[in-house]
Amino acid sequence: MTNTLRSLPAAVTRTGALCAVALLSACGGERAAPADDTALEPAYAAITAEDIMRHTAVLAHDSLEGRAPATPGEDKTVRYLEEQFKAMGLVGGMPDGSFVQNVTLLRSVPHPEASFHVGSRVIPLSHPADYYMVTRREQALVEADAELVFVGYGVVAPEYGWDDYKDVDVRGKVLVMLVNDPAIPDPGDATKLDTSMFKGSAMTYYGRWTYKYEIASAKGAAGAIIIHETGPAGYPFAALSSLARENLDIKSPDGNKSRTGFEAWITQPKAEELLSAAGQDFAALKAAALRKDFKPVALGARARVRLASDLSTVQSRNVVAMLPGSDAQRRNEYVIYSAHWDHMGRDTTLSGDQIFNGALDNASGTAQMLSIAKGFAALPTKPARSIMFVALTAEEKGLLGARYFATQPPVPLSKVLANINMDGVNQWGRTSDMVVIGFGNSTLDDVLADVLRPAGRSIGPDEEPEKGYFYRSDHFEFAKQGVPALYTEAGSHFIGKDSTFGQQKRDEYTSKDYHQVSDEVKPDWDLSGAVEDTRALLAVGYRVANADTWPSWKPGTEFKAKRDSVLAKRTP
Ligand SMILES: [Zn+2]
Repeated sequence: MTNTLRSLPAAVTRTGALCAVALLSACGGERAAPADDTALEPAYAAITAEDIMRHTAVLAHDSLEGRAPATPGEDKTVRYLEEQFKAMGLVGGMPDGSFVQNVTLLRSVPHPEASFHVGSRVIPLSHPADYYMVTRREQALVEADAELVFVGYGVVAPEYGWDDYKDVDVRGKVLVMLVNDPAIPDPGDATKLDTSMFKGSAMTYYGRWTYKYEIASAKGAAGAIIIHETGPAGYPFAALSSLARENLDIKSPDGNKSRTGFEAWITQPKAEELLSAAGQDFAALKAAALRKDFKPVALGARARVRLASDLSTVQSRNVVAMLPGSDAQRRNEYVIYSAHWDHMGRDTTLSGDQIFNGALDNASGTAQMLSIAKGFAALPTKPARSIMFVALTAEEKGLLGARYFATQPPVPLSKVLANINMDGVNQWGRTSDMVVIGFGNSTLDDVLADVLRPAGRSIGPDEEPEKGYFYRSDHFEFAKQGVPALYTEAGSHFIGKDSTFGQQKRDEYTSKDYHQVSDEVKPDWDLSGAVEDTRALLAVGYRVANADTWPSWKPGTEFKAKRDSVLAKRTP
């Protein structure tokens, strides 16, 4: 308790004092209307390092077996979360008052056979050494014998005047495409990328494999093959190995018939073998694909595919809790906190440790969300609007729980002001900043900056934008549906440490523990910074839940049009 009070952010006292005098506009302005954060003291006091650690340790315990969806570990996880929310006095967030949103998933285990054919020449493909292949359809056998067409990056981006497909009809064809988005050199300085195109070196959604398969589906392709290159992908081919074991997807009423027949990845050497057999050159095709006037290239070759899949239906769950707002007029409007509860389960083929505990990813973010819920519950006067907390399933399988929640929300998204997502806390001590993934996208950044400023803290951009983190956690599914979303990460300036400390620790985690069985609670964790970040995220939600003005996407952001159309349909 002593520790808790000593580390209360200066914001608690200083903001209150300043705002109480004559500087109201400097303390949050119109955006955050009555931003009297002194009211938050009971909430801040309820958020402690001990609590975050305690929940993390429970969720990351071996007995939960790595929290894979649709396993006994899920049952234990869901029960724990529901118990915790109930103990805080929260109510179920589903329309029937329950805490559980059922998410029906399609599970498939692929057994593909495939080969390329150029004239009489056959290029055999060995699975999974040369390629990975899955179908998202509820179809036990997908077969294709179709022409191969190289479509560059496979991108249609009207805002950049870019269309890799031009008018070419690719229905029934098998598309071959490059990973990431077009890396177009700056016309004035060839050592740099053109920042006016596809955000320069930062990855846009057009660079994500999910986008590439979506557009292939929309174009009616028989299948799509992405050529893996380690640099632009950001990870080695082997990092995709779970595709060969088991895949989950949301089960749609039409059996996912609208999806392309198969989604595949191929190694660069195999792709080069195909292209050279077809009289093409990989480097030359890549260069051509960087030009706006690029047109699809028919390879004069065929792909033969026989993809058998073992299919089954499994049930998983999102856990949804709610703290009803105190203002009867605005109680049916919401701020939604989210964190994925799932992780990668257990791999029985491993010798030694088989359990992917996912302590940081994302037992810790789930623990952080529980702490925020406890903080809100401790407030004598609740925020005007309702606060919803959703622990999401199957993030590790492609943001599935979030996609399900955001497309079948228990409350209309036109009534949701913001999503605040948590995926991993800062376990290395206090920072003078917080990193915003997707910095500058929405006015939520400004609210966070206002919250941090009195304590002398600041916000900054993601230092690895080329890795496309904005598209790699659950807030993205909210953003896609137009909801302004905030997703932060540990700051990069650690107090009392040298300037390389943050990057060094991040690299260490990525190379040693990320998605490994060693992501466990470590004795050297220092959650003092996590406590401050957690309080700040609570304050952001609190301000938004009380403010007169709704958060919005900033002009030029790819999600703004969607939000505008959702809000235009809003009923009072
Ligand atoms: Zn995660």
